[in-house]
Amino acid sequence: MRKITADYIFPITSKPLKDGVITIDDKGTILDISPQMIDDDDQSDLEHHRGIIIPGFINCHCHLELSFFKGMLKEHTGLDVFIRDILALQRPELDVILKSIDEAENEMINNGIVAVGDISNGNTTYLQKAKRKMLYHTFIEVFAFDPTKSKSVFDNAVSLFNEYPSGLHKSITPHAPYSVSDELFRMIYDFSKTHDAILSIHNQECEGENDLFLTKTGTIYERIKSWGTDLSNFHATGKKSLPIVLHKMPETSKILLVHNTVTTEEDIRWTMSQHEQLYWCFCPNANLYIEQKLPNFAAFINSNARCVVGTDSYASNWSLSILDELKTISKNSPNIPFETLLKWSTINGAEFLGYSDQLGSIEVGKQPGLNLLTGIDSNTLALTPDSKVKKII
Ligand SMILES: [Zn+2]
Repeated sequence: MRKITADYIFPITSKPLKDGVITIDDKGTILDISPQMIDDDDQSDLEHHRGIIIPGFINCHCHLELSFFKGMLKEHTGLDVFIRDILALQRPELDVILKSIDEAENEMINNGIVAVGDISNGNTTYLQKAKRKMLYHTFIEVFAFDPTKSKSVFDNAVSLFNEYPSGLHKSITPHAPYSVSDELFRMIYDFSKTHDAILSIHNQECEGENDLFLTKTGTIYERIKSWGTDLSNFHATGKKSLPIVLHKMPETSKILLVHNTVTTEEDIRWTMSQHEQLYWCFCPNANLYIEQKLPNFAAFINSNARCVVGTDSYASNWSLSILDELKTISKNSPNIPFETLLKWSTINGAEFLGYSDQLGSIEVGKQPGLNLLTGIDSNTLALTPDSKVKKII
C-alpha cells in the first residue's frame, strides 16, 4: 500500500484537491482519495510530490505499426503529398518494424499513456499487444476506393480480426471518406452491427477532402486519379465529406472522428444533431507536421462537443506524448481551461474506448495509473512550454 500526496490532485470527475492524499494498493487500485492530512495524522509513510497528480493519459489515435517511419517523412507537404510519400516508401525488415513498435510502446508508457486506440492495417503489432503492458482497442482499418476491390480487402480485414489475440478489444473500421467505396462501407456497417463495434475514421484533414465530395476537384481528387482509379461512377455531391459518410456508419456505434482540421462549427453542430455518440479526436502535432494547420478548437468548445486527444504515429509526429499534444493546443488556444484539456485526454478517451470503469479518473476501485505533471504555472494552473509528465504508477 502507498499513500501519495502532491500540491494538487486532479481526480477529473471531481474537484481538484489541494494537498490531497491518494491511497493505493500494490496493484495501483485506488483505495481512498481524501483532502489534505491534518497535523496529527501519521505522515511517516506519505510520499510527497511537487506538482499535480492526474490519472494516466488516454491516446485515442495512433498507428503503432508505422513507428519505423520515425523521422523519415518530409514535414509540411500537405496531405496528398504525404499519402503519396508514405505509400512510396519501402518497408524495412520485420525485425526492424518489431523493434520500432516495442520502442514506441515504451515511449508511450514512459509518457504516462495507459490506453491506446490503435489503427492496424496488418498484424505486426499483435505480439506486442498480447504482452498487455498497456490497454488497447485495435481498429483494423480498411481502404479501397475502387469498389471491385471491396470484397478482397474486407475478407483480409476479417482474417486479421480473427487472428487478433483473444480477449483484447477490436473492431473493423474505415480509413477515411476519400478511401472507402460505398460497397466497402456497407460491409463495415453490417459487420459493426453484429459485433457491437466502435468505429474510427479520419475526418476533414484538409480542404481537398471536402472538395472531392463537393465538386469532384482538388488535391485529393488529383491524388486518387494519379493512381489510375476509375472515378467515372463517382459524382460531385455538393456536400462536404462528413455528411456523405456519416450515415454509412451505424447510428448505434460510438464514432471517433479523427483530425477535424478543417471542420467548421456548422459541421460540428449538424453532425451532433445526426448522431448521439460522437467523439472528436485532435492530433495537433500531426496536423502541424503535415498541413501546418490546427483545428478550430473554440468551435468544438462552443458546440459542447466531446473531444479526445491522440498522437497519431511516428510517420507524422516528433513524439508519442499526449502532454506534447496538450501543450500545442494550449499554446494555440490559451483560453481553453487546463481542466478541459485534462478531461479530453483522460476520462473522455476512456469512455470512448470502453475503459472508463478502470481508467480516466482517480476514483476508488479504478486502476487509472497516476501521472505527475510539473512545470505548471503556479498562479493560473496552466500548462507551460516547460511542463513535464512523470509516470508514478
Ligand atoms: Zn491516423
